[in-house]
Amino acid sequence: MKGKLFSVKMRASKEDLHVSGAEAIVEKEFLERTLLSFFKRAMEHKRGEPDFISLKVELLKKGPFKAPLLPVFHTTGKSEELLLKLFSLAGIPSELGLYAYRLLLKGPSPKGDVMRGALILEVPSGRRLEPDKEKGVRASFLGITPHAEAELKKKAGEFYTERLRDALVLTTKVNSYPGVLGELCLSDDPDYTTGYFSIPKLGYFRLFNLKPSGHPKGGRVIFVKEGLEVESFVNFLKKEPFLGVKFPGYLFWGLPENFRR
Ligand code: AMP
Repeated sequence: MKGKLFSVKMRASKEDLHVSGAEAIVEKEFLERTLLSFFKRAMEHKRGEPDFISLKVELLKKGPFKAPLLPVFHTTGKSEELLLKLFSLAGIPSELGLYAYRLLLKGPSPKGDVMRGALILEVPSGRRLEPDKEKGVRASFLGITPHAEAELKKKAGEFYTERLRDALVLTTKVNSYPGVLGELCLSDDPDYTTGYFSIPKLGYFRLFNLKPSGHPKGGRVIFVKEGLEVESFVNFLKKEPFLGVKFPGYLFWGLPENFRR
């Protein structure tokens, strides 16, 4: 992707409640197509027809930083056991990791609600560093090149979804910041029980049945090392444009060797 790049964002709500959202970074020639597909996505969302849709187009003033997406691991096994293994791989004490997981299940805002953004947890102190404890921090200016998206679709095959693509782009950006140890995500969509844990340079581990079906709580926790400068990190998450440029592979973890792709 050369030439001018634009950030496109969509946000839709009904009676002030969030219905759907999406974003992309595209070249000028793809603007119209992206806007139309975001508009359709907002109108056809299963949470109901929105009464408010915002579509925003912004020229990127600086080039995005580019990095390959993390490889995706399709796991099998009990989520809590897998989580413990992954926390250990990421250098996160298991009690702190499990505390974060239970916090997401309970609703991570001080009132026990779902947050709009992520919370930032310092390791090993367990201090919450996000400046706004109600809303958290939202990672933004996220994109994927058409080539990387095609690679992801091909390699993930039947497991490809737009949700996987968007989460992979988001978490690759989050994990590229020095001092990040990993990220845990649990959707707040009651019908979507698949979550993930991701580790810098290592991968994005899909965790199935990470919460009971019908459970309306979830969120994101970014684990960081002590000494991370919070203001710069938050600024990076919110403002620095990111483009995923390659997809290394969709692999199976926890299954016999001959089942691997
Ligand atoms: P979702 O996977 O879209 O169901 O989102 C799960 C949770 O992740 C939400 O409840 C938010 O707390 C958090 N979240 C969603 N989008 C973002 C984002 N762009 N940046 C940071 N956190 C997010």
